[in-house]
Amino acid sequence: MEDLRRHLLWQEEAGGRALLVDAAKQSAERSAALRSMLPPRGEAKSQPAAAPATPEPARPSSPSPAAEPQAPAPRPALVRPVEAASSGLLIDVPQKAPPHAGPLPGVADGERPTLDQIRRELGDCQRCKLCSGRKNIVFGVGNPRAELVFVGEGPGEQEDLQGVPFVGAAGELLTKMIQAMGFSRDQVYICNVVKCRPPGNRNPEPDEITACEPFLRAQLLAIQPKVIVALGKFAAQTLLRDSTPITRLRGQWREYQGVKLMPTFHPAYLLRSPQEKRKAWEDLQQVMKIFGRQPGART
Ligand code: SF4
Repeated sequence: MEDLRRHLLWQEEAGGRALLVDAAKQSAERSAALRSMLPPRGEAKSQPAAAPATPEPARPSSPSPAAEPQAPAPRPALVRPVEAASSGLLIDVPQKAPPHAGPLPGVADGERPTLDQIRRELGDCQRCKLCSGRKNIVFGVGNPRAELVFVGEGPGEQEDLQGVPFVGAAGELLTKMIQAMGFSRDQVYICNVVKCRPPGNRNPEPDEITACEPFLRAQLLAIQPKVIVALGKFAAQTLLRDSTPITRLRGQWREYQGVKLMPTFHPAYLLRSPQEKRKAWEDLQQVMKIFGRQPGART
């Protein structure tokens, strides 16, 4: 089975046997459904209590959560539930008004910003304490008009050194996951909730997420993807304003500002828990169906 072969491809990174894979590239459609307000400027120091993630124990070398199921403090729901495309499952989330209403500085209210505008606004950011230890701001990489966006947690050591997201071990696994889906890294866009490395690869703290997430939301508004894949609990819980553990969020279609969002496990978590890879692959197969790609399809 081709899907199994693709699944085994990225198992290689967790110590499994190497398998030959020639994941094909597919051309991308242009489509956008996202119409929403721009996020405001991050002002973390004045909003410490609103962030979604509950800190977890510090991790020695990974940019992703060590134990995915930890739930953060509840935040207002920004999204409405959406019926899963294939499973028919529905998550009941209360709807409330978006907590952010203002535009990004320099961008008119209701205007679609560009990634360059957002990066310029970010500047040499010192909006939260993560600025003190970073070597580089890790803004994001990939196609600025990507239909598929992957959102992770935050930069790790290699990402901090290179200024590029997902270039360490977890990044290599993510690349294989993307390829197994029939995409290449330059066809998609990859970014994180926080743009600076938490010291010691600890989890980002609530005030740091609050400071940085407006830029993530602006990035998504600029790109207007067709599908967002939220990698791990921090990405999923931050974008969805939902403290449900990732073990329950994953695999269920949700909606972020009119865009389909699929929560799944973070690649670093999968490296530590390879037995969960099949679940993640099932989640990614649901995403492939949105793009009309059946497992095994090639272009
Ligand atoms: S993590 Fe985000 S808000 Fe904090 S200093 Fe870095 S870019 Fe600024």
